[in-house]
Amino acid sequence: MQQRAVFYPLGEGITLIDDAGEATCYVVEGPEKALVIDTVNGKEDLKAVVRQITDKPLVVFNTHGHPDHVFGNVFFEEAYLNKKDWPIHDAFFAQQPENGAKPCPLKDVQPGDTIDLGGRKLLAIALAGHTPGSLCLLDDQSRTLFTGDSMCHTLWMQLDHSTSIQTLLDSLNALDPYRQRFDRLAMGHGTQTTPADYIDRLKACAEDLIRTGGEGDEQGSWFGGVAYHHRFGENDSIFYTKDKL
Ligand SMILES: [Zn+2]
Repeated sequence: MQQRAVFYPLGEGITLIDDAGEATCYVVEGPEKALVIDTVNGKEDLKAVVRQITDKPLVVFNTHGHPDHVFGNVFFEEAYLNKKDWPIHDAFFAQQPENGAKPCPLKDVQPGDTIDLGGRKLLAIALAGHTPGSLCLLDDQSRTLFTGDSMCHTLWMQLDHSTSIQTLLDSLNALDPYRQRFDRLAMGHGTQTTPADYIDRLKACAEDLIRTGGEGDEQGSWFGGVAYHHRFGENDSIFYTKDKL
């Protein structure tokens, strides 16, 4: 069977791993350890995939609790996930039909904590919105912010556990003190990075959505029902339900 994982080297010891076009995770190599950011869908042995890249001891970090970012935890010994997202993680594992494998134990990680790979340090930063406990990771060495789904080209804010649009906007504004430290965003889906000025356009979109109430926005469907797109740029939108306003 062909491997699902496709590697895209991003320089500075970072490899983007695309899981069959469904979700994206990253390996960041430090002097002593390597960091796995998200574990995708769990449909193939991610640890074996990562071993094609590095032999270093591994640290596993989940940006948030969604299945396409945590189901591969079953191949590892433990993973960091912000405690606010543990109920989401637990609920999805409880529903998981096919693969009865148990999730690895979770360790809490809070905004302001650092992951130290032996000199190369990544800083956890809160970005509530898509989920209440979503965290970004800032890598100063490569000037990259790993965002999970907290920033995404179609930003899913329509989920029951997604926050209000105002909370999302507050989270984005709280990133301001860090803005001089990164140039690119490494998101939870896709095969390339995104220039950091995406954040300005996303903020403007959120502000506009709050101001206008999304009047005239077109509907779109997803597997859970119907929501609205508040669009910015060619292919970007905040996907939301009216109760988030
Ligand atoms: Zn997600």
